[in-house]
Amino acid sequence: MSVKRFVIIGNGPAANHAAEALREKSSESKITMFSKDPFRSYRAHLLPDFIAGLIEEEDLYNRPYAHYNEMDITLRLGQRVVNVDFSKRNVILDHKEVVPFDGLIIATGGKPRIPELFQLFGDIMMTLKTPSDARLWIQKLSYVDSVLIIGGDLTSLSLTKALLKLGKRVKFILNEDAFWPVPLNEEIYRAVTGRLEQRGIEIVHCRRIRRITQLEENLLEVETDSELIEVGALGAFFGLVPDVGFLARTGLDIDRGVLVNEFLKTRFSNVYAAGDCAQVYHPVLRDYWISIGHENAIALGRIAASNLAGSHLEVQVEPENILEVGGVKVNTSWWTEF
Ligand SMILES: Cc1cc2nc3c(=O)[nH]c(=O)nc-3n(C[C@H](O)[C@H](O)[C@H](O)COP(=O)(O)OP(=O)(O)OC[C@H]3O[C@@H](n4cnc5c(N)ncnc54)[C@H](O)[C@@H]3O)c2cc1C
Repeated sequence: MSVKRFVIIGNGPAANHAAEALREKSSESKITMFSKDPFRSYRAHLLPDFIAGLIEEEDLYNRPYAHYNEMDITLRLGQRVVNVDFSKRNVILDHKEVVPFDGLIIATGGKPRIPELFQLFGDIMMTLKTPSDARLWIQKLSYVDSVLIIGGDLTSLSLTKALLKLGKRVKFILNEDAFWPVPLNEEIYRAVTGRLEQRGIEIVHCRRIRRITQLEENLLEVETDSELIEVGALGAFFGLVPDVGFLARTGLDIDRGVLVNEFLKTRFSNVYAAGDCAQVYHPVLRDYWISIGHENAIALGRIAASNLAGSHLEVQVEPENILEVGGVKVNTSWWTEF
């Protein structure tokens, strides 16, 4: 039998656990992972600690290069997959290289969401997903004393802790995406804003932002319907959305993420999706759910790999753990507090 060629798109927790599970189950196969990021697999939840100066950048990375050699996994960093041809069964990289596969796992995770309303200001608004984003924050914070956070998802709360540690002034404009992926309700809103205010964070109560103007390199003016705010930096925290845009014209079923059945299989044979990029069918709810969360990524990565290697494992999720948040079914039980 010829050696199977498995390709994994991604180098986050879903991709790494998928690669390791594949290697356990298929010692002879050729496994190649692609990541558009130039850095090794990192612990995203530690990015705020890195910004606060509590840890070194090296502490973010959780798998040494030697690990991939030991597992006989080819890791190709800084290589973006721009297309997948499912009829010819190959992935296409941005430098036009074509890489064939017998089995594929898509584990491209999520990317920071900037709502349409704010997309014009995308260049001014800072986000936090990768070590490069964290380096940008560190650089910016060496010049500015105040930060306005708009949106206010869970990651922004841990960034806020880091900002306070650095002695920065923090203002918040919360919107309906606050605390994503936890659904926002009155009770949570009051509890969290109360706690933020106790820590000296100013909540800007407004219904809309009218204007954002960059006055100087490190000075922004934000006009809301209730007040005019001057800040040094602006953080946009509206949760993460599946990073699957490059797959839109491949024939894969895509809604918010890559649609997969309860076995994480797409409509193409031997093609699976796992982690934050997947939208998973629930046979009881007869609908698809997504989640953003570390444990989710690991569990789904392992299930996808096992099934690609011949198992028939079903994702087990209690229907009561799936909630509707902003019109999207979300499994919030996967979010692990680190
Ligand atoms: C600041 C921060 C704090 C967090 N804190 C927590 C927490 O406390 N608890 C928790 O449960 N979760 C937390 N999360 C969320 C958690 O990190 C994610 O849910 C998890 O990383 C998802 O894993 P994943 O493997 O699905 O995707 P990701 O970790 O997003 O990895 C995606 C990978 O795909 C690659 N990729 C994407 N597109 C392409 C392409 N076209 N070609 C090649 N490669 C591509 C990327 O380079 C990356 O390697 C946090 C996230 C952030 C950003």
